[in-house]
Amino acid sequence: MAEVQTPDAETFAFQAEINQLLSLIINTFYSNKEIFLRELISNASDALDKIRFESLTDKSKLDAQPELFIRLVPDKVNKTLSIIDSGVGMTKADLVNNLGTIARSGTKEFMEALQAGADVSMIGQFGVGFYSAYLVAEKVIVTTKHNDDEQYIWESQAGGSFTVTRDTEGEQLGRGTKITLFLKEDQLEYLEERRIKDLVKKHSEFISYPIYLWTEKTTEKEISDDEDDEPKKEDEGEVEEVDEDKEKEKGKKKKIKEVSHEWQLINKQKPIWLRKPEEITKEEYASFYKSLTNDWEEHLAVKHFSVEGQLEFKAIIFVPKRAPFDLFDTRKKMNNIKLYVRRVFIMDNCEELIPEYLGFVKGVVDSDDLPLNISREMLQQNKILKVIRKNLVKKCIELFNEIAENKEDYNKFYEAFSKNLKLGIHEDSQNRSKLADLLRYHSTKSGDELTSLKDYVTRMKEGQKDIYYITGESKKAVENSPFLERLKKRGYEVLYMVDAIDEYAVGQLKEYDGKKLVSATKEGLKLDDETEEEKKQREEKKKSFESLCKVIKDILGDKVEKVVVSDRIVDSPCCLVTGEYGWTANMERIMKAQALRDSTMSSYMSSKKTMEINPDNGIMEELRKRAEADKNDKSVKDLVLLLFETALLTSGFSLDDPNTFAARIHRMLKLGLGIDEEEGVEDAEMPALEEEGNEESKMEEVD
Ligand code: ADP
Ligand code: MG
Repeated sequence: MAEVQTPDAETFAFQAEINQLLSLIINTFYSNKEIFLRELISNASDALDKIRFESLTDKSKLDAQPELFIRLVPDKVNKTLSIIDSGVGMTKADLVNNLGTIARSGTKEFMEALQAGADVSMIGQFGVGFYSAYLVAEKVIVTTKHNDDEQYIWESQAGGSFTVTRDTEGEQLGRGTKITLFLKEDQLEYLEERRIKDLVKKHSEFISYPIYLWTEKTTEKEISDDEDDEPKKEDEGEVEEVDEDKEKEKGKKKKIKEVSHEWQLINKQKPIWLRKPEEITKEEYASFYKSLTNDWEEHLAVKHFSVEGQLEFKAIIFVPKRAPFDLFDTRKKMNNIKLYVRRVFIMDNCEELIPEYLGFVKGVVDSDDLPLNISREMLQQNKILKVIRKNLVKKCIELFNEIAENKEDYNKFYEAFSKNLKLGIHEDSQNRSKLADLLRYHSTKSGDELTSLKDYVTRMKEGQKDIYYITGESKKAVENSPFLERLKKRGYEVLYMVDAIDEYAVGQLKEYDGKKLVSATKEGLKLDDETEEEKKQREEKKKSFESLCKVIKDILGDKVEKVVVSDRIVDSPCCLVTGEYGWTANMERIMKAQALRDSTMSSYMSSKKTMEINPDNGIMEELRKRAEADKNDKSVKDLVLLLFETALLTSGFSLDDPNTFAARIHRMLKLGLGIDEEEGVEDAEMPALEEEGNEESKMEEVD
């Protein structure tokens, strides 16, 4: 076909990323091209959902085309396949924005995924499914009519640009969209009835609008000559003469082949959720799940249930195998439960239906009790919806527990969605304890496996009252933390909480099964299982270190709240703990990473560090001796500062000024190596020492 460039065609350039995506789609070999049809049918279905929803509050929106349908028209003569829907259509602005000039956030992600070896069938999940048309077509024409605009034609052979033209001459759609694919020479299989039917069955079976295929039927028919002379009926299509022999015998009957066309319905539309669960196969659920979500993989778990009584609704909920690429993208509304009222689709981003933390659960809810013409505003205060929500959350948690029965599945689930569960613990006070059962952690005793809190409790030592945990950046970072020393020595198990969100979640959880959750890094960690004799000895030792505590506090000044003799460390010389209500080192790290933090809050919360010193450690013993001999011993001051900075690191805090720390280390190295310090270099290398000291130490320098 010749290029028809009408004078009023406007040309637009594809946005750069979309252009890249198109080249990738066109120039790379993908074996799974057939998914283009699923994508285009899914778009048609979305467009129909939109107009149906609009029509619930304003019936006249359907006037231009009262019927809701999807039609597929293969045209072997022109080698085109058209997908027609009577959905909402697109205005001219929609065409320009949605099909070429504004890139979705998923465009780049999808290309990266493709280059990393992902399958092209994932395209729908990234919100760029339309462009899959170019897997099979060299040219695409989109004709569309929206209620609020005229009919327009979008046309492109990719190659950097597309045109948009007002369509006054073409067949008028009334309302909706017609996508015509000019198939590539090697993709003509998509004109075959059989192939199309199979594809619809495979990928689009659960589309809830009728999908009609324009089919060709050939029938042989005997007619007499005079009948033959009659003008053809319009609907019957062409009539072809076949029997040449008989034709010679004038006046006799003859056989002809009659080709007729009809719309054939090719999908069942009985909603799967109305059927009995025991009659639905796993494959059927999987294919429903795929059509619902555009996922290319099967679901991990499914729950199909109905609630009866005062309120009635049916629902199917699915848990996917993986988290979507944009699970915590706040720009995207994460709601994946489609709401139906008496089988009519209402909306798919109803925030009131399910809490945010369960945004990864997909499914459908069909209520018998909501009014059909419900508006978004009404939904917000709707009591029925609140009850549905409560039930959905309950069923989700049941479903997660079912997944937990299979370890391998649960590991997959936990890896993908543990953050959501923890967010739930933080936000959903009603279900907090149920969600806590679903948590899993590594611990000092769990090895490579994860442990539940329940299992932890069964392993608790006799006399152990609390559940101990430590928070930090990674398993590696906490495993050898000085805070664990005494707990480990006593055989107490400690949970490793190394997810940023753990800190928030555990802050809300506070206890499990009547047992307090106690941080190994916060002040006030009491281990009360020592004998009277041990206690006495410890008290005495504590006393003997009191003067050192004072010396250290004087040196460190405001850097620490107080200095005390520790009950919890065994090997390390000292550690830094935070007050029971202050931030742990991990929280401080998280808050520092979040630039949004309120700085007054941060200085208040992070100022409460207590230094705990270990009286059994050789370094402390030596320090004590030196400090007792000479209160103003310069080496004591230097060592204390170095110990403090090292403790910042081992306790999980960060150094505000790493250079000072380095300078101090270098000085120690020199000492260790016996390099003479009295050569005037000292002042230049140790500038921070003076700056850092408090008033007292400044006076020392003058001495
Ligand atoms: P997604 O379907 O995830 O939004 P697509 O690339 O498949 O991404 O489609 C892009 C956009 O183009 C859609 O969001 C919609 O606005 C518009 N669109 C595509 N097909 C149709 C159609 N048949 N009717 C109306 N709008 C459509
Ligand atoms: Mg789409």
